[in-house]
Amino acid sequence: MPQLNENFLKLEKNYLFINIAKKVNEFSKAHPEADIIRMGIGDVTQPIAKCVVDAMKKGADEMGVKETFKGYEDSGAGYDFLKEAVSGYYKSFDVDILPEEIRINDGAKSDCGNIVDIFGNDNTVLITDPAYPVYVDTNLMSGRKVIFADSNEENGFAAMPDPNVHADLIYLCSPNNPTGSVYTKDQLKVWIDYAIKNDAIIIYDCAYEAFITEENIPRSIFAVEGARRCAIEMCSLSKTAGFTGMRCGYTVIPNELTAKASDGSEVSISALWGRRQGSKFNGVSYPVQCAAAAVFSPKGIKQTRENIAYYQQNARVIASALDEIGIKYTGGKNSPYIWFKCPNGMGSWEFFDKLLEEANVVGTPGAGFGRNGEGWFRLTAFGDSERTKEAMERFKALKL
Ligand code: PLP
Repeated sequence: MPQLNENFLKLEKNYLFINIAKKVNEFSKAHPEADIIRMGIGDVTQPIAKCVVDAMKKGADEMGVKETFKGYEDSGAGYDFLKEAVSGYYKSFDVDILPEEIRINDGAKSDCGNIVDIFGNDNTVLITDPAYPVYVDTNLMSGRKVIFADSNEENGFAAMPDPNVHADLIYLCSPNNPTGSVYTKDQLKVWIDYAIKNDAIIIYDCAYEAFITEENIPRSIFAVEGARRCAIEMCSLSKTAGFTGMRCGYTVIPNELTAKASDGSEVSISALWGRRQGSKFNGVSYPVQCAAAAVFSPKGIKQTRENIAYYQQNARVIASALDEIGIKYTGGKNSPYIWFKCPNGMGSWEFFDKLLEEANVVGTPGAGFGRNGEGWFRLTAFGDSERTKEAMERFKALKL
């Protein structure tokens, strides 16, 4: 009989969005007439930009011609044309990343979860709370000790390190899911100094980088001095270019990033991750990589930013409705997420039910993202603009 990895039994029974879907389905069955507006799951709704679709079609056509057909990609780390495009994108905001330091993947969730493979199970893992559930879940699955840095109202949901607490691996996410908060360069420098002092590695998730509007907010941790010695960065085209159904992202590991093995030797993190990927990952499909490269072309940047502007306008609609009611929030400015305190001291799930039952609007209970999320709530700006306006009218009409 196989022995189970019983760490899985310690996890929440269902992934957060499965619980939400269940509740919404039950409500919908009981109230088939209800016109439900979904502002829960952080999925995009706008179609992919035309020049990106054209590039994917061209890539697909090439697969049907003997001379241009592609089988397995040699390295599985992405075609040079795409890595060069990503490197060029970094250059556009003054960050130097070599194409060889970039690995293309099927989205940031895979790498965020799989990166734990190359680190020992005795590491202490520091995660800001609340957080994107993947960081906590994947570390609990391998039985690691997870400790938390509190993101809360007092620090504007931007947790900072406690110099008296040691960690080996640190997860940071900016712009943050779920809170929409962002780290400034100075705040990131504090985290980098802390990581270097602790010989720790930061796993920096910037999946929402394209939503940054403020000049002083870095789009990459590598815009901050010292990061190349202590950070891995993960980004995604899911929210940048509507790739949630396409699946493509990238991970950056600087060449100089190393960690000490138990025999005292310095081991390249990039080489170790490359070894892991070589055995467990066979790359992203050629047409999708063609599409991804088009995202970073001047036309692609222009067209994809139009979709982002659409979502940003939704964020403004949500924010101004909350302003009108007098509910404080974080996010919205550099992020598609708006995070607010549930009115009248309500619990997150209690408010979820009220919003669903009385306004037929679905949001995400903050409690699903960690202890500090209890009593808080997330709405996303990824919906249709008319439906977002309608949802906020219903929200304003709620008896609070
Ligand atoms: N990181 C964060 C913070 C996210 O919110 C998400 C998706 O919602 C991801 C990573 C995963 O993105 P992908 O679609 O690239 O797997």
